[in-house]
Amino acid sequence: MKTAVVTGANRGIGLESCRQLAQAGFKVFLTSRDEVKGQRAARELAAEKLNATFLQLDVADAQSATRFIEHLQGEEERIDALVNNAGIALDGFDEQVARRTLDVNFYGAVHLTDALMPLLGEDARIVMVSSGLGELSCLSRSRREGFESPVPTRQRLRELMEAFVESVAAGRHRQEGWPSSAYRVSKVGLNAFTRILGRELAGSSRLVNAVDPGWVQTDMGGPGATRSVEKGAAGIVWAATLPADGPTGGFFRDGRPVAW
Ligand code: NAP
Repeated sequence: MKTAVVTGANRGIGLESCRQLAQAGFKVFLTSRDEVKGQRAARELAAEKLNATFLQLDVADAQSATRFIEHLQGEEERIDALVNNAGIALDGFDEQVARRTLDVNFYGAVHLTDALMPLLGEDARIVMVSSGLGELSCLSRSRREGFESPVPTRQRLRELMEAFVESVAAGRHRQEGWPSSAYRVSKVGLNAFTRILGRELAGSSRLVNAVDPGWVQTDMGGPGATRSVEKGAAGIVWAATLPADGPTGGFFRDGRPVAW
């Protein structure tokens, strides 16, 4: 039986991704930073006769991530699909919001993916749940160049993300080509990391892709959103279950490529 890990899975797109992966026959590790909410979500799937096990995981908490990984190691689990779904879109815009948003949406996915790498199966699928709001067009022309020509190194990407936080703190982010949205920059960073990882994994059977779920009716998307949670999750499950000749290092919505 194949095994999947989904982060931020106590509600919204993460929970629905767990449901669809379990329906597809995966043994699912439904993770949540909050024990009570995570247990409740796992019970909801159990009531539907779906195979989902709750494990606590706060992607922005190194101790929580270590505990989570040690648990998987102890159980000798091999992970066939990793869905980096956990995300926040905070109100307001200042240095603290920028820092916290990057810590969850960008560094959370980077650190977890790197730490889980030894546990990933040889033909694992890695999915970064990104957003159309993270398209490079949200950056000034010169800032965009730093992300695309060529794709930055890991070190350079980290410097770019830190430069964003510094420029927000100094009130210079506009002049320095950044948008007034930490959420957007976090997803720009996540997309760049997807390309870096795609390059690093080239030649292996592991595939990594970023997915934009569209504007989805969740707590984050709000009631005015145009898409059902089922439709939003379907594009993620598509990327988590790609065949051997599937794409890697790309950005997709509904299984179709979209511009970086
Ligand atoms: P949501 O309903 O707000 O759910 C977000 C999930 O992330 C919650 O389970 C939340 O847990 C969890 N989370 C937040 N911080 C976390 C942390 N530090 N560690 C672990 N989990 C954490 O949002 P959603 O719409 O389902 O969003 C899921 C993903 O889709 C996000 O990455 C989002 O950026 C992306 N996305 C959504 C839309 C949309 O229209 N909805 C569009 C594009 C992209 P708590 O319940 O504990 O807060």
